[in-house]
Amino acid sequence: MSPNQPAQNPPFSGSHPDPAVLPLYAMQLLAPEETEAIAQHLARCTDCRAELARIQGDLALTALTVDLEAPAAAARQRLLDQVARETKIVPAAPQAAVQAQTQAPPQTQSQLKPIAAYGRSDSSSSVLSIEDHQPKRSLGRAVFAGAGWATAAALAVAAGFLLKDRQSLRDTIALRTSEVMRLNTDAAAAHQLMDALTDPGAVRVTLTAQPLPRAQPIAGVTYNPDKGSLVFLASNLDPLQQYKAYELWIIPADSSAPIPVGTFHPDLQGNASIVMPDLPKGVPAKAFGITIEPDGGSQTPTMPIIMAGS
Ligand SMILES: [Zn+2]
Repeated sequence: MSPNQPAQNPPFSGSHPDPAVLPLYAMQLLAPEETEAIAQHLARCTDCRAELARIQGDLALTALTVDLEAPAAAARQRLLDQVARETKIVPAAPQAAVQAQTQAPPQTQSQLKPIAAYGRSDSSSSVLSIEDHQPKRSLGRAVFAGAGWATAAALAVAAGFLLKDRQSLRDTIALRTSEVMRLNTDAAAAHQLMDALTDPGAVRVTLTAQPLPRAQPIAGVTYNPDKGSLVFLASNLDPLQQYKAYELWIIPADSSAPIPVGTFHPDLQGNASIVMPDLPKGVPAKAFGITIEPDGGSQTPTMPIIMAGS
């Protein structure tokens, strides 16, 4: 819009729309004629198309993330920042707009800035850009824009509270659900326990600790030296290592060398016996002894004598 054009020309016909209006356009909150004017401008202005795309991206991100834990932080912050910025500068609009309507000054200052300059740099620049721009805005739209942003801000805040409320509600529900599940599990376990204990088809077995340690080994010999007859019975014998055997000895009364009676291996219960081995006759016994020998036996006892009797 050049300075010598009348002020009542359609808005945005040659200049960038106010930065506060593009979000309203993106949210389809503008009147039809304003929508049409901005659409025509957008068709010619890549800057404003880029700005609109950015705004739409923010809106889309915010909408898409409503069902998630929270809106994407960057997009949400950009929207909130813009809401705060526009809300802050809108109160100046009615006065400037009234001035524009009553005096209809020529657009002496309206050499246009790139859209990126509006409301984006520091605050003094924002005020200046609004002053530059306000004469082109009607009072109605300024109020409408302000109301739109106030609504948007209120919606954003309300959405924030709703998100927070819903999250805390979800937490509460999750907690209750886990409590109920735990109680159900406890009840089911108790029910199963009672069923198992009272089941008539079940067998009941009493278990105790390991059997008592094996009793001490014991053995007895019945020997008649005159006949050379011998019967040996033993029980509770300890198991032998591999390739070992117990061997029974007669220790003669005359202190001569021990006479081997025979070897034996205990069975799994520790029992063993030697019945009527081939022995010399006429050898009185002073004592009997048992040693552990290599399998097959020895001719002389290998110490120690692990069992002895006389
Ligand atoms: Zn533009």
